[in-house]
Formats: sequence, structure tokens, C-alpha cells
Amino acid sequence: MASGEMVFLNGELVPYGEAKISVEDRGFNFADGLYEVTRIVGGRPFRVEDHLDRLEAGARSLEIEIPSTRADLLEAITSVAAANGIGEGIVYLRLTRGPAPRGHAFPEAPNPTLVMLARPLAAPSREDYEAGVAVVTAPDLRWGYCEVKTIGLLPNVLAFQRARSEGGFEAVLVRDGIVTEGSHTSVFCVRGDKVYTHPVDNILPGITRRYLIEVLRSEDVEVVELGIPVDEFRRADEIFLTGTTTAVLPVTRLDGDAVGSGRPGEITRLGIELYRRDLEEARKRAGS
Ligand code: PLP
Repeated sequence: MASGEMVFLNGELVPYGEAKISVEDRGFNFADGLYEVTRIVGGRPFRVEDHLDRLEAGARSLEIEIPSTRADLLEAITSVAAANGIGEGIVYLRLTRGPAPRGHAFPEAPNPTLVMLARPLAAPSREDYEAGVAVVTAPDLRWGYCEVKTIGLLPNVLAFQRARSEGGFEAVLVRDGIVTEGSHTSVFCVRGDKVYTHPVDNILPGITRRYLIEVLRSEDVEVVELGIPVDEFRRADEIFLTGTTTAVLPVTRLDGDAVGSGRPGEITRLGIELYRRDLEEARKRAGS
């Protein structure tokens, strides 16, 4: 936390030390809430309409009323970034069902909590993008609502911690023998000239994932949305991760073994370059 940090809390920007939420907030009691991490590029939220669409879809699914119009949410994201001098970074938004005496039933008159923090970008290092990172497989122990970006992330946290303790950058989750996604990233693999990624069927509909699928297809690369068995995944020529803070990141080791040639492959490098160009365009638009 930087000194002088401002937090958006329920419609207002308040100093960090004064931003308080109830000890009975249902986010705290039940992980009863949603979140979004939006990248800030040139002072403007990047792909923000996609993030707000996903937030709205999650809110419908969990029956949480968003206590703001879409225009107000957009304004709040931009203003919390500006108030903290974040030109390049992220805004982390959380929406919970709000405070209520503990009980499983939804409160009759809910008062949702909406919080936003703006922070510098904690992106992987240049070396990670150039040499690729190591990942570790872990069982996907999550539930049946993985399309919803809920704050209930304990299975993701445990898988990630396991990967970190084994020297991995990320955990690659495996459900019923099929690779689903990462603990906080989408996962792609390349076999021959085809790219594969799990369909949006009980995984998070990653915004970077969708962009990569579209842009690779526009470059005449065949992308197939298909769950890949982990044994085949191990034989991939290339593996890469995508995500809002991760961008497009090569994976060059899987459970200690080299992936393909052990260097970032051609399609991965194309994805990195296309994503970089898109960010540059966004920076130019923000500056104009
Ligand atoms: N998959 C999971 C489980 C995630 O938590 C995330 C991001 O937090 C992603 C994928 C990547 O999604 P996006 O590209 O929208 O950041």
C-alpha cells in the first residue's frame, strides 16, 4: 500500500486507512461475491467492456445486484486509477452481497459492497517472456461454477502454492485427466500447426483467452477449443498462458520436463507480438 492511497468504497473515494467494511460482510463469511481485475493502459481501462460484461453475467448468476450503473462503474474504475496516479497498472474490483447477520439464506434487503483498488502492474519479468516459465500440474479441485469469477479462490490458491513450492510460475489444473486452465491464467498448447485450449465449459471465460483465439484465427492459425488429455499435453510442441496481468507467457518446462524444444515456440511468439501491438494501439488511443 502506497502512502496516500485512495480506495473506491461504495460510491466514494476514501483514504485507504478509512476504507472499512463490516466483519459480517458475506464476502468474508461465505466468499459470497465476485471480482474483476482490469488492466489500466495509458490511464484508461483496457478491454473494460468485456470485464463489465463478465461481471454482469456473474452477478446475474449469483443474483447479486450491482449497486451502480455501468457508466458509473466505468467512471469509478478510471477515477480510482487516476486518484492513485496509476497510468499503467490494474484496478481490482470486488462486489459482495454485503453485510448481514450470518445465515446461509440471502438477506431480504441486501446492501452489496463494492470496492476498488488501483495498483501498479505486477507482471512477469522480461526474462520470463523471453525464456519461458515452468509450470506444475495439480488436480482441479474446484466446483461447478468456474465460469463465474467468484472471490472463492481457495482451490486456486492451494494449487498455486503447490506450484510455487515446487519452483513453478503457475499451476496447470487437471480435471478427470483433462487440462482445464491455470490457477489464474488460461492455458493453450500447440501441436503441429494447431492451437488447442479448453472450451468455456466449467472454466473461466478468460478475456485474454478470447482475444488470443480471435487474433490467431485472423492470422490464419487454426485454434481448436478442445480439452486435451494431460498425457498429450505433455507432448505439446508449445504451451503458453494468457491472462490480464500475465498477457501471453511462454511455458518451457512442465513438471520439470522441457516443453518442445525448451524455447518459446513460433506461435507463442506470434501471440506475444500480437498482444504487444494491441497494447500499443490502446496506449496511442489513450494518448489521443
Ligand atoms: N483462468 C482463471 C482461473 C483466472 O482466475 C484468470 C484470471 O484471473 C484467467 C483464467 C485469465 O482471465 P483473463 O484473461 O480474463 O484475465
